[in-house]
Amino acid sequence: MSNQSFPTFTDISTLGEFGLIKELTKNNASKHHNTVKSIGDDAAVIGTDDEAMVISTDMLVEGIHFDLMYTPLKHLGYKSVVVNLSDIYAMNAVPTHITVSVAISSKYSLEAMQEFYDGIYTACKMYNIDLVGGDTTSSPKGMIISITAIGQAKKDKIVYRSGAKKGDILCVTGDLGAAYLGLQILEREKQVYLAHPGVQPELDKSQYLIERQLKPEAQRGAIEYFKREKIVPTSMIDVSDGLASELLHICNQSDVGAFIEEGKVPIHPDSELAALEFKLDPITCALHGGEDYELLFTIDEKDLEKIRFMPEVYIIGEITDKTDGIKLHTTGGNMHNITAQGWNHFAE
Ligand code: ADP
Ligand code: MG
Repeated sequence: MSNQSFPTFTDISTLGEFGLIKELTKNNASKHHNTVKSIGDDAAVIGTDDEAMVISTDMLVEGIHFDLMYTPLKHLGYKSVVVNLSDIYAMNAVPTHITVSVAISSKYSLEAMQEFYDGIYTACKMYNIDLVGGDTTSSPKGMIISITAIGQAKKDKIVYRSGAKKGDILCVTGDLGAAYLGLQILEREKQVYLAHPGVQPELDKSQYLIERQLKPEAQRGAIEYFKREKIVPTSMIDVSDGLASELLHICNQSDVGAFIEEGKVPIHPDSELAALEFKLDPITCALHGGEDYELLFTIDEKDLEKIRFMPEVYIIGEITDKTDGIKLHTTGGNMHNITAQGWNHFAE
């Protein structure tokens, strides 16, 4: 009998997205002294002087991140840019340039791609961004989009996920859960359409939610307000995977605990209604929905007065000691542990 052992293979679904990144980059070490921040935040930071460059990249895959049955190509182009800019703003930096890479199958026509680029250029105009390059190739099936965004910031104004401290106030720039509910509505209407192609989709009364899903905006106004009012948040992250997941990132990287007051979490009335229709708890949609592209940030108590005058901001909780854990204070007076339940594409 041979004692030769067979190689073992680990199923990626057992690791999840974050576990996989961690495993693949566990020996990652910077060779250049200007690598200020490598893997682990919304964007990397590079620079030796006062002024630093901030870089982030994101990939969108047809069938996983978008469905062209209900996503107009112009909106897709716009959203692809915006989700990248959101990561740059989450560093308290100003995005300036993007590169756009696409892989497309033969089902895409020139006209379809022109529509997609119309959306890209609309976002570039809106957010004052130069498109400076990219790559184009073919794909055996569907479309894959990869955008890299580059921004600028004064090094001492860059905000990481790791700076929150006990007593800091936890804030968010807008309502949560709407994009997820918008997606539920689009998916429902798609199923209705597939079953009864003659039936017109019922989308009129869901305009706000659908717009939050198909045409999100990045929080440029928040960064401009911080600069004007001379506020530097102690930590910040953009809400792409849901409030719970992002709060966990801040707490883990800052080595602190936190609590959120359920009653203070901003949820749009249309989200409340839609959640009810889908028999979902609105707070669950806010905690785990994702794609809101709001900014979750913490500020020192001394900045509270300045924050009160911010045009769009909600104070939703506080940073506590690590030993206090990460909690949700419900409106009913209970306390729940907040756990991650982000989207795990690999587990599907
Ligand atoms: P976000 O949700 O803000 O886009 P991610 O969760 O995608 O951030 O990524 C977390 C961190 O891991 C980032 O610093 C990102 O650059 C890094 N990262 C993600 N995938 C890889 C990869 N395949 N190789 C190296 N670094 C990666
Ligand atoms: Mg991010």
